[in-house]
Amino acid sequence: MVKNKKPKVAIVSLTSCEGCQFALLDLGEKFLDFVGQIEMVDFRLIEDEEDAGGELDLVLVEGNPVTEENIKTLYALRKRSKLLVALGNCAAMGGIPEIKNYQEGANTIKHVYKYIHGINNPEIKELDNFVKVDFVFPGCPISGEEFLKYMPELLAGKIPVIPDQPVCIECKAAGNRCLLLDKKPCFGPMIQGGCNAVCPTSRMTCQGCRGLRPNGNVKAMRSALKNMVSDHEFENITEIFGLRDDIEDRERIK
Ligand code: SF4
Ligand code: SF4
Ligand code: SF4
Repeated sequence: MVKNKKPKVAIVSLTSCEGCQFALLDLGEKFLDFVGQIEMVDFRLIEDEEDAGGELDLVLVEGNPVTEENIKTLYALRKRSKLLVALGNCAAMGGIPEIKNYQEGANTIKHVYKYIHGINNPEIKELDNFVKVDFVFPGCPISGEEFLKYMPELLAGKIPVIPDQPVCIECKAAGNRCLLLDKKPCFGPMIQGGCNAVCPTSRMTCQGCRGLRPNGNVKAMRSALKNMVSDHEFENITEIFGLRDDIEDRERIK
């Protein structure tokens, strides 16, 4: 047996904008250093060769399983890989495409295509509706730095734990004036931090692309925003990044 064999990794995109894969390329040399530590079996943004199949230590899956081909690919990857990781908000939470689920699918498709006969219009579902997901890199897009931080653990076969802290912690550390003081409906307190509060630092509200944190208090968030947005507006914001169904689940349990 060959000692110190490099872990076999694939990065695969289903239906997506590929922005999370580009977040990796944006790491530049740091990403190339990472690639040097693994055997990259598939990553079509940087190589042309067909994936020859075979066992994988880790697969990172971006996007939504929308087409039958996507779903087949996803099942096959799960079978081949010791760990399967969701890469980004679409894969983990349905993402922006999930807005369609809430907007009467038939109307949406008619808006895009004049003649809808023969065009499939499946409900958008995140990966864990189909296969077991071992870990999630959250965000739209993911944070490249966070990828580099947690990959060593994943490559060692361990599942990292992202600290349960709100976006507000990094927002305060950046010295930002809280948007809530200016009556801007920011979801920061209930959303998983780790993005360096990039939106509030640019004076944009957090709309929750990294998902609810484990102890995120939806009831308290609703109450804090009640003089800023109507219930309907609150729901609309939760639809942007596929947060709505997670919030409904959380509220059902509590
Ligand atoms: S999470 Fe965002 S950046 Fe990543 S594939 Fe989906 S839409 Fe694109
Ligand atoms: S602006 Fe948003 S993220 Fe920043 S402290 Fe206020 S609620 Fe939290
Ligand atoms: S501030 Fe909120 S919406 Fe912006 S990147 Fe962070 S989690 Fe996503």
